[in-house]
Amino acid sequence: MGPVLINVAYIAAAALFIFGLKMLASPATARRGNALSSIGMLLAIVVTLTSREIVSYEWIAAGAIVGAAIGAVASRLVAMTSMPEMVALFNGSGGAASLLVGWAAIHGQQDVAAFTAFVAFLSILIGAVTASGSVVAWGKLAEVMVSRALVFAGQRFINGLLLAALIAVGVMFTMEPSTTSWVFYAIIGLALLLGIMAVIPIGGADMPVVISLLNSYSGLAACAAGFAINNNILIVAGSLVGAAGIILTNIMCKAMNRSLANVLFSGFGAVKAATKVEGEVKPINVEDAYLILEASSSVSFVPGYGMAVAQAQHVVRELADLLEENGAEVTYAIHPVAGRMPGHMNVLLAEASVSYDQLVEMEDINPRMDGVDVAVVIGANDVVNPAARTDEASPIYGMPIIDVDRARTVFVLKRSMASGFAGVDNPLFFGTNTRMLFGDAKESISGIVGQFKG
Ligand code: NDP
Repeated sequence: MGPVLINVAYIAAAALFIFGLKMLASPATARRGNALSSIGMLLAIVVTLTSREIVSYEWIAAGAIVGAAIGAVASRLVAMTSMPEMVALFNGSGGAASLLVGWAAIHGQQDVAAFTAFVAFLSILIGAVTASGSVVAWGKLAEVMVSRALVFAGQRFINGLLLAALIAVGVMFTMEPSTTSWVFYAIIGLALLLGIMAVIPIGGADMPVVISLLNSYSGLAACAAGFAINNNILIVAGSLVGAAGIILTNIMCKAMNRSLANVLFSGFGAVKAATKVEGEVKPINVEDAYLILEASSSVSFVPGYGMAVAQAQHVVRELADLLEENGAEVTYAIHPVAGRMPGHMNVLLAEASVSYDQLVEMEDINPRMDGVDVAVVIGANDVVNPAARTDEASPIYGMPIIDVDRARTVFVLKRSMASGFAGVDNPLFFGTNTRMLFGDAKESISGIVGQFKG
């Protein structure tokens, strides 16, 4: 394929990416948008395979087969609740791939231009930071390591030293690029360490920010790799991921009412100790919960991570249908960081075919909360914790929440009095208008559905 034709094909692929992304903005067009972007990616891959000086099709085929096999098996085996961890590992793989592309761009080359060396350095640096940072994020989400923020004296000083050392080796590498010198290995080692150091001081409820930020980094690394190997479509695709990730990061920061700098450097939940909550808990059983719901004319479901664990979305929808038949107005109140990944609740509810019109954003439901007869909290905890409004000592103080405590009655469906991801107590459970419906959310909701059906 000639260079003109290649660039025309790349422009077509880039247009498909952009239109696809745009369509992802609305649930009605999201599937088609995804398909469109995938076609763009297929076009980009086919054109690249026919156009570049491919070293070895055998190696590419072998890589594709091994990668596809790992991906297929992993996506079958991974539990729905572990999807966020999988996304973290995807980001990490993207970073590692950019590191390798940057490496390959320099490896064995004579007379490398300073610009190429510089962008290869960037792709190795950002790629390595993304890779190791994502592994730490995965560890925190999977709770194989402490999920709270880890801060220690001198942390910022060490990070500053790391950054200075990286700039020094980066300059040396750009002046004399080689993949066999100690400088090259120092870049990889220091960047991997920086990734770890950047993510360990972030934890608790701030994790959504770090996940979307790493997603953005993986795009920036790919963009730098695109410059290193002079591939336009990689530059475009990388920039799109980088920009989309930054926009999402911004949305997440707003949802937590924090600035990005505050999230990255303040060490969430590491130092503060929230006021201990005490009081009387009022449990309720399925039969009594049914009687109250049956008499309600306005019900709002507030899903959280526990709904994903219990896989309760289908029975929740069944209960919502029964309540509507019974004359109640039903809404689903969606907090931007409920669950463990952006849009987690939207995905689960869409899977259960809940109509998108019934999903109400936090800003829109809160002013209407006074008029809600029953707010049914399904495995949500941090996102409905009133301490965020009232307890200045709480690590989540200032985070906007769904004000379920302002509804006439609140049902909280969870298995125990355990805290949520941020590890803080929740005074909601002791509220005068709160009733705790203990047990697995799916079983509790199924029980209420059973009562409705007589
Ligand atoms: P939380 O993690 O605060 O609480 C979930 C609750 O679900 C737990 O208290 C648990 O209580 C309950 N639960 C677990 N399993 C079940 C079950 N089978 N049946 C019923 N209840 C169950 O969830 P939220 O959604 O309220 O908040 C999300 C948190 O995660 C926030 O702190 C957010 O910052 C963070 N986060 C969000 C990300 C995102 O992008 N959305 C990414 C990473 C972190 P019990 O054990 O007693 O049942």
